Amino acid sequence: MRAPTDCGQSELAAQTKQTRKVGNDCKDSAGFPSKWHTSLKASMHATLQLLTKTNFPPLRRRAVETLQVNLGYRCNQSCVHCHVNAGPNRTEEMSPETVDMLIAHLDANPEVRTLDLTGGAPELNPHFCRLVVAARARGVKVIDRCNLTILEEPGQENLAEFLAAHHVEIVASMPCYLEDNVDKQRGKGVFDASIRGLQQLNALGYGQPGSGLVLDLVYNPQGANLPPPQEALEAEYKRHLMSHFGVVFNQLFTLANMPIQRFGSTLVSKGEFNTYMQLLRSAHREANLDNVMCRNTLSVDWQGYLYDCDFNQQLGLPIRQDGHPRIHISALEANQLDDHAVRIADHCFGCTAGQGSSCGGALSNVPASADMRQSV
Ligand code: SF4
Ligand code: SF4
Repeated sequence: MRAPTDCGQSELAAQTKQTRKVGNDCKDSAGFPSKWHTSLKASMHATLQLLTKTNFPPLRRRAVETLQVNLGYRCNQSCVHCHVNAGPNRTEEMSPETVDMLIAHLDANPEVRTLDLTGGAPELNPHFCRLVVAARARGVKVIDRCNLTILEEPGQENLAEFLAAHHVEIVASMPCYLEDNVDKQRGKGVFDASIRGLQQLNALGYGQPGSGLVLDLVYNPQGANLPPPQEALEAEYKRHLMSHFGVVFNQLFTLANMPIQRFGSTLVSKGEFNTYMQLLRSAHREANLDNVMCRNTLSVDWQGYLYDCDFNQQLGLPIRQDGHPRIHISALEANQLDDHAVRIADHCFGCTAGQGSSCGGALSNVPASADMRQSV
């Protein structure tokens, strides 16, 4: 393993956007133009057309156990690798009526045991707390995909205590344990704010043995390479974060970058799209097919429409059935999607390459092979 100098960060650092701090009124205090995201999106290369022709194996859904809900695209950060293109100026946000429909769905479908909240920064949705309380009251496990810096945003002063009080599991982005690399990918000052956030969560019991408060971290590579073996990197993270900052956490999830949205567009710009796809295809492992997240997770967008996964959501590939071009959560009946065919495309190789990749990290312990341009 390489010395702990870069966590696999490298190629896209120069394209990093500085963190934009926003308050609850969503004003961009850093003074970036309000149409920044619109113009960025307009200048992005679409990758869907490069992905639709595929030889990825067919997949069928099983019973839904997890609802992964996107509460909106607003975020206090604008990370280079964000597959949602989230940022301070995005206005898409789940309405209170759609939140009510989600709660009604939980009531009608007790087999759904996990509510996985994502965004943007899901905590910026004004109905975040209400949804959390409703789900926990029904005995549903709640996961908050938290970027850590949100804990310091104006109006979020009580967020950490709220999450702890309701035993919400936290999955936090932390793409490296070194300041330079995190700030290059996620914005200046993000590393320090993230460490302060982790320390605040630790003080509440998160990540501490026996507390029952789960704190997991997420790593993704910077460049066009696969994640390093999860177990080894987790050990390195734990050693470094404890010795330098006294920080503890439960698990590290290593996720592969998907060739879509900002990351996919960057690959196209650099002429690396086909090389990256070849890397993913050549590292495909059949054994990972059994555990990819679309088998038992249903992705819900901010308007309440359904997808096989968050990546399909961002590619605009909704679940279709019986001539309906898309399905709304309010119209979904129990077991309606069991054994339904998943909408696959070439990006699916990002889930099955090497050790595999899902919302819960690696799918297997098999280390990536030598031709995968290891990060560590
Ligand atoms: S913190 Fe997460 S949602 Fe926000 S811009 Fe970064 S990757 Fe996207
Ligand atoms: S990208 Fe989505 S649909 Fe494709 S294998 Fe992964 S989870 Fe399933």
